Amino acid sequence: ASTGPSDFIREIVAADQAAGKHGGRVVTRFPPEPNGYLHIGHAKSIYLNFGLANENPGGICHLRFDDTNPTTEDPEFVESIQDDVRWLGFDWHDKKFYASDYFEQLYEFAVHLIQKGNAYVDSLTADQMREYRGTLTEPGKNSPYRTRPVDESLDLFRRMRAGEFPDGTHVLRAKIDMASPNINLRDPVLYRIRHAAHYRTGTAWCIYPAYDFAHPLSDAIEGITHSLCTLEFEDHRPLYDWVVAESEAAHRPRQIEFARLNLTFAVMSKRKLLELVTKKLVTGWDDPRIPTIKGLRRRGYTAEAIRAFCEHIGVAKRDAIVEMQLLEFFIREDLNKRSPRVMAVLNPLKVVIENYPEGMVEDMEAVNNPEDSTAGTRRVPFSRVLYIEQDDFREDPPKQFFRLAPGREVRLRYAYIVKCTGVVKDPQTGAITELRCTYDPDTKSGSSQEQRKVKATIHWVSAAHAIPAEVRLYNPLLTTDLAKVSPDQDWTQSLNPQSLERLTGCLVEPSLQQAPVGARYQFERTGYFCVDPDTSPSSLVFNRTVSLKDAWAK
Ligand code: ATP
Ligand code: MG
Ligand code: MG
Repeated sequence: ASTGPSDFIREIVAADQAAGKHGGRVVTRFPPEPNGYLHIGHAKSIYLNFGLANENPGGICHLRFDDTNPTTEDPEFVESIQDDVRWLGFDWHDKKFYASDYFEQLYEFAVHLIQKGNAYVDSLTADQMREYRGTLTEPGKNSPYRTRPVDESLDLFRRMRAGEFPDGTHVLRAKIDMASPNINLRDPVLYRIRHAAHYRTGTAWCIYPAYDFAHPLSDAIEGITHSLCTLEFEDHRPLYDWVVAESEAAHRPRQIEFARLNLTFAVMSKRKLLELVTKKLVTGWDDPRIPTIKGLRRRGYTAEAIRAFCEHIGVAKRDAIVEMQLLEFFIREDLNKRSPRVMAVLNPLKVVIENYPEGMVEDMEAVNNPEDSTAGTRRVPFSRVLYIEQDDFREDPPKQFFRLAPGREVRLRYAYIVKCTGVVKDPQTGAITELRCTYDPDTKSGSSQEQRKVKATIHWVSAAHAIPAEVRLYNPLLTTDLAKVSPDQDWTQSLNPQSLERLTGCLVEPSLQQAPVGARYQFERTGYFCVDPDTSPSSLVFNRTVSLKDAWAK
């Protein structure tokens, strides 16, 4: 706070505090509907709401489940949302609320509105209501039920609650202005009849409040000072203010809108994510290819990286699309600092060092993390038979290729300079099955003769010591940006059939034997990887979190 407000919301909050509004308090809320898992877009809202509360003395951010739709909500989502907010590093300090706990209070507010003559029960059909609503250019028309006597509306509303009417027969509407240029003010629906069980209130209710009614009142009930929401709600604000004013609540929360996060090539709509999961187009809510918090976490993202990303993008009043590469930049930066380096060969090619004594094993000293001097070193066994990356050898090297090729030398990381002296091929297919090499014993890394320079250094594992592993590489889930797919097209046609590549014959250095689920590493020259929960004692499985920006020897 000492550096002053850094965005338009913080400016508003600072001004409110300076003016002594809300008794100088800041109370925000994060209000997810428990109808799906949280994604990176929600992280932006979490970071903003909890951040704002945390940076103001006495500030608090409520976690509120906006659970007013009986048919889509589920306790599974309530659990996962709490888990994700905590994992992201935030705490609601016991201020956990459910909009469904306010059902009785909301009903009382509605009765009060009817009594004041500011709400009425309408009995038009849904089609008729749409027709009467008018358009952007044409004013709406009053419903014939708009002048219904207060007592009749009160009686009907009570009977709606008592379950006397089927779905769709009546609604409760606010009486505002059918000619308003703002369609949201044309007598918006406040309650609908829905004979459906709610995951918390069961069948106690068969009428459910609309978002535009429940949300401002929930904010008022909880004493929210600044109610932050995304830009789509900007033209709902007059209705928000109307509801709050009508409720005569002692407390007046203020709605402020900010731009939602859009990420290129990411599926961020809850509806689409649900479709991916229910149609099994992904493996679940934690599939590393989707930008849910659970998916990012399984992919190897850290909460620190997600927070740093949110801090960087900030909040603005204009919608913008953020490149996926920006999110990747932040995870790379974080993992570069914290992840131990190891050697892993994803596409192995066998190498025999002909002049290296059979049966001899040397433990080479390898640096765990050049970015962290406290991370120390480890021993990596070196022997006569090794594996290197297929890509690091070319029989017929192009001009800019400086790695291994017949007659050429390369340094094996932490070990020796080796020279390729021969190539063994499969007599049937002609495919290269093995390289023959010699090593120069005077070139051991760290020894005094190390000075001899070669153009490239490559990674390797010792055949006798390496551990087999499966490595999962992830490519973008979409081939086309969804913004370019028209709504009447089947968007799932844009799914990339190559979004998951499973490499099953990989070999990793023996230090990874006991790697626990979730542990993160840099596979030298290849990228950042983490241990997937599918790992079992008999088979290690790694996810590629993100590739390295630059391999140090290309
Ligand atoms: P629904 O499809 O149910 O409307 P939603 O994406 O609006 O889903 P909510 O559970 O209502 O999800 O979201 C909780 C909070 O997260 C809201 O305050 C919403 O504004 C915010 N939020 C959701 N998506 C984004 C996003 N992409 N960027 C920023 N904030 C978001
Ligand atoms: Mg919502
Ligand atoms: Mg939404």
